[in-house]
Amino acid sequence: MPHQVLILGGTTEARELAARLAGRADLAVTLSLAGRTASPVAQPVPVRTGGFGGAEGLARHLRESATALLVDATHPFAARISANAAAAAAAAGVPLLVLRRAAWQPVAGDRWTEVGSVAAAIAALGPAPRRAFVALGRQELEPLRAAPQHHYVIRSVDPVEPRLDVPDAEYILDRGPFELEREKALLAGRQIDAVVAKNSGGRAAYAKIEAARALAIPVILVRRPPAAAAAAAATVEEALAGLDHLLAAPAARGE
Ligand code: NAP
Repeated sequence: MPHQVLILGGTTEARELAARLAGRADLAVTLSLAGRTASPVAQPVPVRTGGFGGAEGLARHLRESATALLVDATHPFAARISANAAAAAAAAGVPLLVLRRAAWQPVAGDRWTEVGSVAAAIAALGPAPRRAFVALGRQELEPLRAAPQHHYVIRSVDPVEPRLDVPDAEYILDRGPFELEREKALLAGRQIDAVVAKNSGGRAAYAKIEAARALAIPVILVRRPPAAAAAAAATVEEALAGLDHLLAAPAARGE
């Protein structure tokens, strides 16, 4: 019988890990998505979509599906599902592997202000009108309403509906990975003087940070929420190494 592996995804790393495991006869891998994105990219393994009903629901799912290993490869800012994964794995006695990419670190030339929330990021733009490029999830934009004096250029994967209650906003629909020259052209072309983003880490969204550095534009960066469990792996390669180790442990074999 193949080992059932459940990957909580919604990230590039989850898709890459699933692709690396897809061909293995000893594993039956399922990828779980929250269902936030209207047209998610194709995945290399079977997908299930939608919430489980909290930590209890996830624990029940782990038991009922006889999952041998749970992989939390969700986004570093998806704090609730990560907390649920840690609690559910403990409750169901299923080993948990956390794959969380490292945070970006400032390098010479970066002009970062690091803050604890989106609201703090918008406050950090200050009272005078700015031209801010906003790269946040469409569900995170509410705090912009508190600072209607700025011109916002808002980029999201799915449309922001309804539009924000701010007088001066432009909406761009696009999905990463993003490329440096295009990001530079976007920032320069719109005369952006501040970038508001989350410290997501990884390559796919890093070009805007590099573009801001090249153009000496300040970046207001939202720090990550604290991690629910210590990350065991920062890369897909590290996760692959940890996975076989965990599957060989008694808990994964139901002992
Ligand atoms: P969240 O606040 O941590 O989770 C909210 C609820 O959504 C969870 O309690 C769970 O519902 C459900 N959920 C989240 N991820 C799920 C998954 N992979 N499979 C099944 N259910 C899931 O999450 P979020 O920040 O809204 O992010 C949602 C998804 O988008 C995550 O999968 C994440 O990897 C991805 N994503 C997030 C961000 C970000 O910045 N937050 C960026 C890129 C991608 P129940 O309690 O009912 O189980």
